[in-house]
Amino acid sequence: MTDIVQYDVCIIGGGLVGCSAALHLTRAGQSVVLVERDSVGAHASGVNFGGVRRHGRNALELPLSLRSLDIWRNMAALVGNDCEFMPCGHLKVARNEAEMSVLEQWRGFGAQHGIDVELHNGAKLRQRFPWLSAQIYGASFCPGDGHANPRLAAPAFALRARAEGAVIIEGDGADVIEDAQGGFEVTLMSGKRLRASVLVNAAGAWGRTIAARYGDDAPVNAVAPQMFVSEPVPYFIDAVLGMVCGGLYLRQIPRGNVIFGGGRGTLSPDQRSSWPSDRVFAETVGLAGEIIPQLRNLAIIRSWTGVEGNCDDGLPVVGSSPRRQGLYHAFGFSGHGFQMAPAVGAVLSELITRGATPTDISALSPQRFADAKSGLVMAESEI
Ligand SMILES: Cc1cc2nc3c(=O)[nH]c(=O)nc-3n(C[C@H](O)[C@H](O)[C@H](O)COP(=O)(O)OP(=O)(O)OC[C@H]3O[C@@H](n4cnc5c(N)ncnc54)[C@H](O)[C@@H]3O)c2cc1C
Repeated sequence: MTDIVQYDVCIIGGGLVGCSAALHLTRAGQSVVLVERDSVGAHASGVNFGGVRRHGRNALELPLSLRSLDIWRNMAALVGNDCEFMPCGHLKVARNEAEMSVLEQWRGFGAQHGIDVELHNGAKLRQRFPWLSAQIYGASFCPGDGHANPRLAAPAFALRARAEGAVIIEGDGADVIEDAQGGFEVTLMSGKRLRASVLVNAAGAWGRTIAARYGDDAPVNAVAPQMFVSEPVPYFIDAVLGMVCGGLYLRQIPRGNVIFGGGRGTLSPDQRSSWPSDRVFAETVGLAGEIIPQLRNLAIIRSWTGVEGNCDDGLPVVGSSPRRQGLYHAFGFSGHGFQMAPAVGAVLSELITRGATPTDISALSPQRFADAKSGLVMAESEI
């Protein structure tokens, strides 16, 4: 019979959310174990686009997003690695007047939250972003947003957390979660057992199953966004690009490769893995060449997908369980979790150690689905 080790907090999931929580909780004096069934950053957190943007965000996510940008700016001081964060700005392009009016609306809204965006069209747009197609009607530019390297971020948080005392277990998933006196008992696939007073569900696209174990249903389903990377060419795309209508997001790294995403690939039946779609490949590569003509004929050297938890209302599920004391959820980030995860860890740590956080996450509560059934919450759509 193996000894059962007792911790203050057990975190399930070693994506950026779980690793950020591990570091912040360890710094707050908690004994922490993080359990990852594959390896740290192996899933969405390590294979995503790397966009770090406030621009165009849903109002309900902005408090987390703003707090997270402050952390991204100081990443090297926090984890000893800047994760290649480049605040080159985010450009959202409109293809017609109707899309431009969406950008104009968001500009007013951003200003209320202290985010200044510049609207460009006509000659001013061509002068500032000469690489854009003449088809583009106008655009909004948000200085200070940018991009980072997803391969670096979750491992950097995990290494720092481990150096400061957290136990990080890889290659061994949480198999059975049971109630134990004063908390939870987690049996891993290897048979190892752990106990903790607090359980953090940071299991990404798979968080719904863990939440359902305690009756916290959240409409989060797996999707497989598709990504691409080109051969390197001299650096010329000096902003992260997105489209009001969706369909394409794109950035160039100083090494010269252009990284872009759009559309969705195919999920495996068990939803543990995914692969690119040929149709999406043709459509997205074609669209990239339409928006930035210099990308036509560029060799695409790789396409890949990742498994992301997408919530029906487009917002993540963050907060304490309404049904089980000591259980906290942070999953279903719906395509926005890379940018927000650094702050999510800080917020979880505050909730767990102090019972409250200064960051307004009330609209992200797991409780909202119960409320929505009675018509209390209406989600805003993101542009
Ligand atoms: C292709 C793609 C592009 C994206 N682009 C962006 C972007 O530009 N900007 C942005 O902000 N966001 C983006 N996202 C979203 C972002 O990557 C995610 O929201 C974020 O990484 C979620 O982090 P996570 O820690 O919640 O999940 P994950 O990184 O998926 O981590 C969850 C972990 O939990 C583990 N796990 C699950 N069940 C168990 C278990 N029972 N026991 C142990 N471990 C378990 C999994 O193995 C996994 O490693 C993108 C996502 C994808 C897929």
